[in-house]
Amino acid sequence: MAGAKVIDGKAIAAEVRRSVAADVETMRREAGVTPGLAVVLVGEDPASQVYVRNKAHQTVEAGMRSFEHKLAASTSEADLLKLIADLNRSTDVHGILVQLPLPGQIDARKVLEAIDPAKDVDGFHPVNVGRLSAGERSLVPCTPAGCVILAKSVQPELKGLEAVVIGRSNIVGKPVAQLLLREDCTVTIAHSRTRDLPAVVRRGDLVIAAVGRPGMVRGDWIKPGAIVIDVGINRVEGPGGKARLVGDVAYEEAARIAGAITPVPGGVGPMTIACLLKNTVSAAREQTSRTG
Ligand code: NAD
Repeated sequence: MAGAKVIDGKAIAAEVRRSVAADVETMRREAGVTPGLAVVLVGEDPASQVYVRNKAHQTVEAGMRSFEHKLAASTSEADLLKLIADLNRSTDVHGILVQLPLPGQIDARKVLEAIDPAKDVDGFHPVNVGRLSAGERSLVPCTPAGCVILAKSVQPELKGLEAVVIGRSNIVGKPVAQLLLREDCTVTIAHSRTRDLPAVVRRGDLVIAAVGRPGMVRGDWIKPGAIVIDVGINRVEGPGGKARLVGDVAYEEAARIAGAITPVPGGVGPMTIACLLKNTVSAAREQTSRTG
């Protein structure tokens, strides 16, 4: 069927984690520091519990310290802010991640802004958002960073490519567009109000789909030979009523036209935690060099 190379996110994420583990070992040997990641979960959202468990497991596997803080759904904003202040002060903690969504009584923005930008391994603090858009060194959001690594696994030099990002969210669309600009791509950000989306997508040598609509991007929207990175994770009913995950791209169709494509699952998904671990090591390195 397909001519496209399938980009194996699982294998590439494993490679990133191996390289993180090697960096952790070097830090421990040379600076006597073991990077530590604190993950804060408020409430009992089942999907969030799975994410947090996976994050903790992979953190330990990479040789780092994992600090899990599980708080009741009824936790007050003040108590959560106090925990963040403690984690900001702790010298064992180099990265802080607050799992979203947070319960209604807590203002997520206030909490994210309370995290020390140097420990903001999710890259959502306004200081890091600003640094990224100003082209300065910063902690970069994990899923967008993963998308760029996957695209570069096919084409190491992205300079000059027409990149079309579909979606303008703060956690994927906007930061991935900034990262591609940094790679010297010509970037278009398309969104729900874009006119003639198929024609816009057809310009893309590189297409990043981050919409949250199953199979929205059709095969005939894809420029022949393009690199297609599908960020979407959509739960749909498969044959026999069983739930399955699909992306934002109509995979079978697009794979016939694209030069390379990420599958769902097994594409962008595994990259997010791998990049989180990478950010934690960078944060630890930065904090260690600052304190001497
Ligand atoms: P979001 O809902 O915040 O943003 C969706 C964006 O898509 C919006 O900017 C909107 O303008 C655009 N959009 C909506 N309908 C559109 C249409 N018909 N045409 C063009 N654009 C349209 O979503 P998000 O948080 O950016 O996530 C997007 C998808 O990526 C979701 O499926 C989510 O589950 C997935 N996701 C995956 C990972 C991962 O792999 N680790 C991480 C984050 C998000």
